[in-house]
Amino acid sequence: MPTNNHNNFDNNALDSAIRPAREQRIPVTLVPSRAQSSKIHIRQQKGDFQKIRTSMNSLLVALFFLLPFISYEGRQAILFDLNQQQFFFFGTTLWPQDFTILAWVFIAAAFLLFFVTVFWGRIWCGYLCPQTAWTFIYVWIETQIEGNRNKRVALDKAPWSSDKLKKRLLKHYAWGAIALLTGCGFIAYFVPARELYLNIFSFNASFWVTTWVWFFAICTYLNAGWMREQMCLHCCPYARFQSVMFDANTKTVTYNAARGENRGPRKRQQNPLSAEKGALGDCVDCNLCVEVCPTGIDIRNGLQYECIDCGACVDACNQTMDKFGYQRNLISYTSENALSGKAEPFYESYKFIGYGVAALIMLTVIAVDIYSRSNIELNVIRDRQSLYRETNDNKIENSYTLKIRNKTQQTRLYRIYVSGNNSYRLVSEANLKILPGEQLDYPVTVVAEPELLADSRNEITFTIAEQHNYGQASQQSSFFTPI
Ligand code: SF4
Ligand code: SF4
Repeated sequence: MPTNNHNNFDNNALDSAIRPAREQRIPVTLVPSRAQSSKIHIRQQKGDFQKIRTSMNSLLVALFFLLPFISYEGRQAILFDLNQQQFFFFGTTLWPQDFTILAWVFIAAAFLLFFVTVFWGRIWCGYLCPQTAWTFIYVWIETQIEGNRNKRVALDKAPWSSDKLKKRLLKHYAWGAIALLTGCGFIAYFVPARELYLNIFSFNASFWVTTWVWFFAICTYLNAGWMREQMCLHCCPYARFQSVMFDANTKTVTYNAARGENRGPRKRQQNPLSAEKGALGDCVDCNLCVEVCPTGIDIRNGLQYECIDCGACVDACNQTMDKFGYQRNLISYTSENALSGKAEPFYESYKFIGYGVAALIMLTVIAVDIYSRSNIELNVIRDRQSLYRETNDNKIENSYTLKIRNKTQQTRLYRIYVSGNNSYRLVSEANLKILPGEQLDYPVTVVAEPELLADSRNEITFTIAEQHNYGQASQQSSFFTPI
């Protein structure tokens, strides 16, 4: 019977390659990868992790295209309206001055990503990253048109013929169509979606909209069709710094070298410990784990920064293990501690705690920011022509301009109040109606009794309150007198 404990293999070469990286707890590139030297033709792989990845990628792609078509209260629910400088998110409107909240969201997302990375390694890259999702869509199209990996390799090597030309044209046409749809999908977050698709495909879109759609379409075509893993290897900063988040408990795709070596081909059901070819480990050297890898690496060489944790090699190896009747998970999502039989609780990891606390703080900041956000914006600007005026009935007048913005998506009714250490009286009309998103420049005059004013400069507070309790805003200013 095959066994998983092969203690008598020569693992000197393996020691020198893998153990230093494990001891330093950092992923490293130990050998020049195939990805850096030749075109990768990925073998399509089925399996549990590929089912999860395909489901998650499909969900994300569907959401990407469908979200702009959701309407809320008669308007596109999610829209960055650059012309009006507003971001509509269902019932909420964010203005440029509210964009700190977006900064908090990005910071919180970064800490959450780091938190997950400490636990699950580069799970983001393998399962959620748009680059991975679109690359697998493009590979799927390539497979449908040009055939499986072997056929694609053969087609690459074959001289040009009408069949090769037809397949290539069809593939690039399909890639181009997906790229154009992706360009529209992205710009649909900035321009009303329904009009956008109609205008683009009827050639009626404006110059700038057309330019941006084609810009993102070309980026998609190049990234998913041509650059693929090169984006992950050379352009993505996350690949470079994710190693600092790893520790001995991080679960990442790992080859169990102690179990797999010495690798070597053998007949199915052959006991790897038989003397026929010397003692063998469980790795049958089928090379499937390399052929399915989207970044073209050999995970048996140890932890490598090119690995995006997609799990394709795990599924491929499990398939081989099943065929040979060996135990699964020669390649698996596991941690250094689990592999060496050590137990180290996660809560003892300072990185895990640190990123978790940082993410919680940022989520709290977002909640407080949202809670304290006002739907009204008020700016009080004093009249610069004169400090004050004396009226015929010996009262003092000061003039102001109130800049009031209704930040909601509904028409609102407001009332202006003035208060301070004097009996101020508003001369202008106090009730206002402001349209959704409108900023009103509203001139007002305030009158006061001079004998009640203690100083030449007095405090005055303007308050604007929505008449149905949809919020209020206040701002202080000065009231001047001749004293
Ligand atoms: S080594 Fe395995 S998990 Fe890593 S990128 Fe390649 S196939 Fe995916
Ligand atoms: S898929 Fe598994 S058995 Fe095949 S070469 Fe890779 S590690 Fe060895």
